[in-house]
Amino acid sequence: MKLYPNLILDALRNVRYPGTGKDIVEMGIVSDDIRIDGMKVSFSMLFDKPNDPFIKSVVKAAETAILTYVSPDVLIKDNIEILTKEQVKAEPPRMLPDVKNIIAISSGKGGVGKSTVAVNIAVTLARKGYKVGLLDADIFGPSLPKMFGEEDARPMLEAVNGKELITPVNKYGVKMLSIGFFVNKDDAIVWRGAMAGNALKQLIGEGNWGELDYFLIDFPPGTSDIHLTLVQTLGITGAVVVSTPQDVALADARKGINMFTNEKVNIPILGLVENMSWFTPAELPENKYYIFGKDGAKKLAEEMNVPLLGQIPIVQSIREGGDEGKPVALNENSITGMAFDTLVDNFITSVDKRNAELEPTKKVDISKK
Ligand code: ADP
Repeated sequence: MKLYPNLILDALRNVRYPGTGKDIVEMGIVSDDIRIDGMKVSFSMLFDKPNDPFIKSVVKAAETAILTYVSPDVLIKDNIEILTKEQVKAEPPRMLPDVKNIIAISSGKGGVGKSTVAVNIAVTLARKGYKVGLLDADIFGPSLPKMFGEEDARPMLEAVNGKELITPVNKYGVKMLSIGFFVNKDDAIVWRGAMAGNALKQLIGEGNWGELDYFLIDFPPGTSDIHLTLVQTLGITGAVVVSTPQDVALADARKGINMFTNEKVNIPILGLVENMSWFTPAELPENKYYIFGKDGAKKLAEEMNVPLLGQIPIVQSIREGGDEGKPVALNENSITGMAFDTLVDNFITSVDKRNAELEPTKKVDISKK
């Protein structure tokens, strides 16, 4: 016997809700997400109030109706999920529905060039024709306004479909918002966990981001609660971890990787970026000086079985680009521009690979409906 949703619905039309004379399908109690897997049937039933005195008897009657009118072999017992209107309302709609990939840019410790890498990945993606958003979630030291030369920008509110949204700053083809736009830049920022989390949620949920291929989030360094709350509510595609080759930085990067990959958080690492890999003086372009050690992040990537997306040298123009608000990767023909170009190609490949891994489960879900 092959089951299909209408068979189940027809059977359920025989169940009346006490005192109304109406059946439970007509009343909208039976949800329209009837799932069938062989002989196993599951769906949810939506009641107005959690203390509805008839919940138990109506659910029992629904089970009996299916076994009587469809087949006694249907596996329905314990497969009806009971929901109440309050619960359904409490479930927030998915944030950023028009964003294809949400990516965390993270580091174990500060000062390794995480923001520099985030900015240059963003402008390189935009140069390649992707729609890119960048959020400065580094609430303890927001540096993206400066790196974009937009320290004085004050994002405006605009009404979109009756809702007030914050318009991101649009620069170098990247839509960008930073907590730094909303505080006085000379004030020390003392955020407590919940406050910071809420401020970030607002920039994400109430930013007018529109359609994006990549939404990059520049996380604060380390492993704070704010990271975790954000990660768990957003449905992040994966994380990129930035480190220098230095031992102390690598130890923290390892912790950072474990924070994402641990069972509870379960976010895949899209790759590791080694920044400040070596120094080459302009007058001796063949020479490489491994100031922070050689290939440290490369070895860590191998050890932890994650891709190494790229190695970025220490170059004066990278620091200058950051300070002047003109990211160095804007110049695609410079050596650093080319380094970021390769890095971004590896990044795109890693994101695509991750999405391909997710694809089969998505397909199963669709066929079940
Ligand atoms: P983080 O976000 O990890 O705290 P930043 O991106 O703010 O680090 O970088 C710290 C400082 O190092 C900045 O002044 C930046 O311009 C500089 N910097 C970062 N990467 C490089 C690099 N590859 N070469 C030269 N300077 C760099």
